[in-house]
Amino acid sequence: MFDYIIVGSGFAGSVIAERIANQLQKKVLIIEKRKHIAGNAFDSYNEAGILVHNYGPHIFHTKIKEVWDYLSQFTDWNIYHHQVLGVIDGAKVPIPFNINSLYGVFPKSIASKLEEKLIRSFGYNIKIPILKLKESEDEDLKYLADFIYEKVFLNYTLKQWGLQPEDLDASVTGRVPVYISRDNRYFQDRYQGTPKFGYTNLFEKILDNENIKVLTNTDYKEIIDIDTNTSEIRFMNNKFNGKLIYTGPIDYFFDYKYGELPYRSINFKFSDIQQASYQEVGTVNYPNDYDFTRITEFKHLTGQKNDLSSIVKEFSEVYIPGVNVPYYPIKNDANFEILKKYKSLSRQLDNVHFIGRLAEYQYYDMDAVIAKALRVFNEKIIKSGD
Ligand code: FAD
Ligand code: UDP
Repeated sequence: MFDYIIVGSGFAGSVIAERIANQLQKKVLIIEKRKHIAGNAFDSYNEAGILVHNYGPHIFHTKIKEVWDYLSQFTDWNIYHHQVLGVIDGAKVPIPFNINSLYGVFPKSIASKLEEKLIRSFGYNIKIPILKLKESEDEDLKYLADFIYEKVFLNYTLKQWGLQPEDLDASVTGRVPVYISRDNRYFQDRYQGTPKFGYTNLFEKILDNENIKVLTNTDYKEIIDIDTNTSEIRFMNNKFNGKLIYTGPIDYFFDYKYGELPYRSINFKFSDIQQASYQEVGTVNYPNDYDFTRITEFKHLTGQKNDLSSIVKEFSEVYIPGVNVPYYPIKNDANFEILKKYKSLSRQLDNVHFIGRLAEYQYYDMDAVIAKALRVFNEKIIKSGD
């Protein structure tokens, strides 16, 4: 009946489904737990008529031409370069913290001395992770690093992760390095934007193929049994001889055999605004004030014109299976040890591919998930000949 069964209709599941259906002309069933496709990229029009990202703000950005070209087959783009301001001591300054931020928080004479030192020590147009800058031996640069650490990173990270920056893998705060530049954009990738008609529309186009069937509102365990010892897959009580592509949480797949992999969840609080514009840029971060981390105003991201506007505030919380949604894998050594055990089990199942943020427990952006799905298709699925 089906050659492939895919669990999850986010980017990982949908891209690989499209490749199998279009390139191999094979039949695919996608099983999706939620009532809709598109995973965490899902967007929809709210009652005020504003296109909102239901699982938090999503800006597409990539350096990978192949990924941009792939998606561009299914959508046109709003060319959008995301900008973020952070509220520091009452001033709103660019994040990542850059030379303009320096002048926003220090008097000109101090800012220019620090600017000169930064450029002399590291060069111009250079990005330095905060934890690296904190190692500076120069007294002034160390002072600056400690200032940025305290004012931008420490409290935001405590709110977002319940942990200090040092207790996470350095790559987490490294996503938002100090940037010796006057470029106020959040990302410097060559390709940036949001899909012209929204993400959900993009997914509808990706999945528009007679070889693809999507079953929503269904946890795969309701209709699929997998014997992880023998690799046997049963679909609606019949043996399934095809392959499974799994994009849900890896610990759930193995019935939490080695314990739960912790995640952070987010409580998104949406509000409609009775005016055309709420804030200067797409996102404003509040490292040190309030319980939420940031406010995003969607119209900046989507380019929508309307007399009203909508915003979302993000309140981070502990993930509890069955209660809220696992959004962010928590990258640190302890969790990596648990992940290693699950990965070793997953390698024993050669009829199952694990792809995506949840299945690989990786802090992937959308482009990385798409690149991975395309790679698995090219290197494993085509080559295996089945
Ligand atoms: P998902 O999108 O999570 O899809 C997995 C799917 O599997 C889900 O639909 C889920 O319902 C389904 N599923 C899970 N378990 C089961 C089950 N048991 N049975 C059936 N179905 C199941 N990336 C960017 O590039 N730019 C951004 O600006 C950006 N912003 C983000 C903001 C937030 C708040 C978050 C949380 C993430 C953001 N991301 C961003 C990351 C982006 O969301 C992910 O890279 C992407 O969604 C991962 O795709 P995926 O297919 O791996 O996972
Ligand atoms: N971060 C911070 N202050 C900021 C912005 C980011 O401390 O103003 C840290 C924080 O730990 C955050 C991480 O950098 O979780 C990555 O930020 P990013 O904006 O990439 O997070 P995402 O958009 O994935 O939530």
